[in-house]
Amino acid sequence: MNVIELDKKYVAPTYSRFPVNIVSGKGSVVYDCDGKKYIDLGSGIAVNSFGVCDEQWIAAVTEQLHKFQHTSNLYYSEPCAKLAKMLCDRTGMCNVFFSNSGAEANECAIKAARKYGSDKKGSDCSTIVTLKNSFHGRTLTTLAATGQDAFHQYFQPLTPGFVHCDATPQDLKKAVSENNVAAIMFEIVRGEGGVLPLDEEFVDAMAALAQSNDILLIADEVQIGNGRSGMLYGYMNYGIKPDIVTTAKGIGGGLPIGITMLGEKVKDVFTPGLNGSTFGGNPVCCAGALNILERIDDKLLNEVKEKSKYIFSELSGAEGIESVTGMGLMIGVKTKKPAKEVVAECINNGVIVLTAKDKVRLLPALNIPFDLLESGIQTLKRVACK
Ligand SMILES: *Cc1c(COP(=O)(O)O)cnc(C)c1O
Repeated sequence: MNVIELDKKYVAPTYSRFPVNIVSGKGSVVYDCDGKKYIDLGSGIAVNSFGVCDEQWIAAVTEQLHKFQHTSNLYYSEPCAKLAKMLCDRTGMCNVFFSNSGAEANECAIKAARKYGSDKKGSDCSTIVTLKNSFHGRTLTTLAATGQDAFHQYFQPLTPGFVHCDATPQDLKKAVSENNVAAIMFEIVRGEGGVLPLDEEFVDAMAALAQSNDILLIADEVQIGNGRSGMLYGYMNYGIKPDIVTTAKGIGGGLPIGITMLGEKVKDVFTPGLNGSTFGGNPVCCAGALNILERIDDKLLNEVKEKSKYIFSELSGAEGIESVTGMGLMIGVKTKKPAKEVVAECINNGVIVLTAKDKVRLLPALNIPFDLLESGIQTLKRVACK
């Protein structure tokens, strides 16, 4: 059997995969087993921040592999401590919990918020408000947090204590007044929900409401974080300061890592034994993440903004394209043709793009060379109007 046949027979069918078997690549170009070349505008769903086979990242990871690949969290290790410091220096957060995925990073944020609520206002203060069309992960608790009913089907009962509201000041106020709320959790740009940035007016109202009611703000930066928005973290575009920031995907550069950053209010909520993870803070993953974070500098962020401008100006108003939304290099394109068709045709034409609900979603590597980006976008334009 070939790889596709093996996978179909032996891997649980939770994904509807495209018939593409990736075998190698360099930067923003990948090759399948037939030698066909693709321009990658998906970067493994915002994971490969510097594309595939990035030399500097490989060097950082392999250097650590030659020292030791893992120790338990009973002992100290340098990459974990250094990464935590760099994250705090660059965000103003106070300390960090390491895990292995976005969902786990959010689980930790929810635990921290509930602990804070119970310490400050009693154990009834446990509700987490999230937004409709949000996505926060696949565990039973982060599914409960996810504000899309389609994800909840078949898995009831989910973890209680979550309320979903529209991203409007009125609806949020109502949710806060009707529940004993510990935290509001939000994506600055809802990714899976259709690449929907929040309005500034809503973000301001949310921050004011949180401030006046001692409610924590949790920014889920799993997808938009780590330079993708044009700033290091998406919330930085809005001038707010969340109490908890979660991230994963792009910070690892391709290895699994989840990060929950805790601000002043929550930096002491965890005491030994209240959370933990066998692989959390793995030295190889942290060494790679440290390399990625170091390289997300002003020069790179300016390039992200420029590439973003290019994509918006090329696609907005183009034939076959109804709207372009998003921020930085996280962009949703509503095409006249069904998004799934457009994605399949792009792949046929050697360009990898993704979907988000009914949109085509672009998440290229932050360092994608301009000529590849141009070529990929022109293909998408051609496909969209055909
Ligand atoms: C992908 C994603 C998650 C889940 O991350 P996993 O690593 O798949 O668990 C959570 N929140 C957001 C915003 C995401 O985009």
